Amino acid sequence: MSDCLIIGGGIIGMMSARMLAMAGASVTLLDQRECGKESSWAGGGIISPLYPWHYDDLTNELSFASQAIYAHLCLQIFKDTGIDPQYIQSGLLMMDEYDSPLAVQWMDKYHVSYQPHADGALFTNIAQVRNPRLLQALKVDILNKGVSIIEHAKVSDLLIKNNQAIGVKTKDKDYFAQDIVACSGAWSSKWLNLTDKIFPIKGQMIVLKSTKGVVKNIVLDQGRYIIPRVDGRILVGSSMENVGFDGSIDIGVQKSLHEFAYQRFPVLLSANIEHHWSGFRPASVSGKVILGRHEQFEHLFINTGHFRNGLSMAPASAERIKQLIINA
Ligand SMILES: Cc1cc2nc3c(=O)[nH]c(=O)nc-3n(C[C@H](O)[C@H](O)[C@H](O)COP(=O)(O)OP(=O)(O)OC[C@H]3O[C@@H](n4cnc5c(N)ncnc54)[C@H](O)[C@@H]3O)c2cc1C
Repeated sequence: MSDCLIIGGGIIGMMSARMLAMAGASVTLLDQRECGKESSWAGGGIISPLYPWHYDDLTNELSFASQAIYAHLCLQIFKDTGIDPQYIQSGLLMMDEYDSPLAVQWMDKYHVSYQPHADGALFTNIAQVRNPRLLQALKVDILNKGVSIIEHAKVSDLLIKNNQAIGVKTKDKDYFAQDIVACSGAWSSKWLNLTDKIFPIKGQMIVLKSTKGVVKNIVLDQGRYIIPRVDGRILVGSSMENVGFDGSIDIGVQKSLHEFAYQRFPVLLSANIEHHWSGFRPASVSGKVILGRHEQFEHLFINTGHFRNGLSMAPASAERIKQLIINA
């Protein structure tokens, strides 16, 4: 029996596993597929909410706390695994909303400023990670730290005794642990009773083959964004679709994302679309992150509902869950 059982191996589950293992807990992580292949893989890797003034204090606090440690964390994981998560402070050029009353109020509150730019506002300290690489590195890192990863193990139910969560059920086997942490992203309400239900919001994204230097900063305009990777590839995202677990991609969205990019950078009109994919963001009905103890069952902790910002919030979310469990 492990000290901690983590359900879900996305950025949230693997980051939680890392923190708990580093605090000395024996950790087992279960994933219904393979670790790091769902929303956390599909995301853009921007380490900031897109228009942060639209989010509550918790989201902002977790994002700022994560931003403060991300560079060091990525360096450490790179050193320990040899896989570079390509954390770069590429800055974010915001072309709209930055001068709205809500934005101005938010900047005052959190002491954030920007550099004026011909096309808008340049937030110089916003960074990005190459999220598929970060996930690959994290998996190696947590294995090295002793976490037991069991893939293709779909949790169907909780095991409860005297109002305490004692384990989970999968098709092949029951797993038991002292504490259980639910990090199963958009699928959380499929096996777990949550008052604030979790549902998927599909996002489609494309990547263009380009050359280094065409786009310097992340660009954000009208809810869409362009992310220049280190190797010259350019990500363009993303759609927001409330269509359940339908992961199909469509040519209309692909065209409109490409158009969004070449309207701002005409040279991208001739850039090849290398890949087009979708992912399921974990949204909660309340719009808030669900982070803490389950309201009904003891020894059950929830770390989900990160919606559009899970990569941004993962380190601080994991730290909070670790504190709750270790100090219990
Ligand atoms: C197109 C797109 C762009 C995005 N861009 C950004 C961005 O730039 N910055 C940012 O911060 N965020 C971004 N996001 C959001 C971010 O990707 C998510 O908030 C984050 O990945 C959520 O992490 P997670 O670990 O909770 O979910 P996931 O990565 O989806 O992981 C959940 C895991 O749980 C497993 N699981 C589910 N149910 C079970 C079960 N019953 N039993 C066992 N395992 C189970 C799944 O297989 C999966 O591996 C984006 C998302 C999308 C789709």
